[in-house]
Amino acid sequence: MQCFLFCVKVKKTKGAAATRREGTLLMRVGMGYDVHRLEQNRKLVLCGVEIPYELGLLGHSDADVAVHAVMDALLGAAALGDIGKHFPDTDSAYEGISSMLLLQKVGDLLEAHQYVIDNLDVTIIAQRPKLLPYMPQMVKNVAEALKIEEDQVNIKATTEEGLGFTGSGEGIAAHAVCLLTSLMELPQAEADLFGRNCAVCKGCERCVADE
Ligand code: MG
Repeated sequence: MQCFLFCVKVKKTKGAAATRREGTLLMRVGMGYDVHRLEQNRKLVLCGVEIPYELGLLGHSDADVAVHAVMDALLGAAALGDIGKHFPDTDSAYEGISSMLLLQKVGDLLEAHQYVIDNLDVTIIAQRPKLLPYMPQMVKNVAEALKIEEDQVNIKATTEEGLGFTGSGEGIAAHAVCLLTSLMELPQAEADLFGRNCAVCKGCERCVADE
C-alpha cells in the first residue's frame, strides 16, 4: 500500500466526507454491463474458464464478457472510470490478453486506493451453452484474481427465453454489481487488519489524528 495515495484521497473527499454521519463506513456500490458478439473461430472464455462451444466471443482481448462487467463494476464503485480508460482496445498490448490478468490489475488498483471488496454478484445472460457445470471454477478464478474469498463472489446464469440478441444466440451479455468499503473510514486498528500502513505518513489528517 502506498500511503501517499491515502493522503491524496482524504484531501479529495474532504468536502463530501463532512456530509456523512460520523462513524459510518464508506460503502460504495458499482455496476457493470457488457456485451460481446458470438462468432466462429473464437474461444468462449467466461471468468477465465474456456467452455467447449461451437462459437466464441469476439473482442480485442479474450472477450471475457463476464470479467469485463466485473471490472467495470469495481472501477465504477471506486470512481476510477471504466475498462476502456485503463485498457483501451486501441492498445495492441491488450490484443488477445486474458481478461483475468486485467482483473488482477483492477484489484491492485483498488488496493492502491484503499478499497476492499465486500462482495460481487454477476449474472451472465446466454441462451446457450449451459454454464452451470463451470460455475465453481469461475467463482474460484475471480476470487483468486482479486485475492478475496469464494463466498464473496456469486456468479449465476440465465437465459432470456429466446428473446433478443442473447436469445437468438448472437451474443452473450453480463451484469455485475459489487460493494466496496473504503479503509479510510475504518478505525486504524481495523484498517491495519487489511494491511493499511500509514506509520510513515505525517501528511494527512487521518494519520495525525491517530497519533
Ligand atoms: Mg467487453
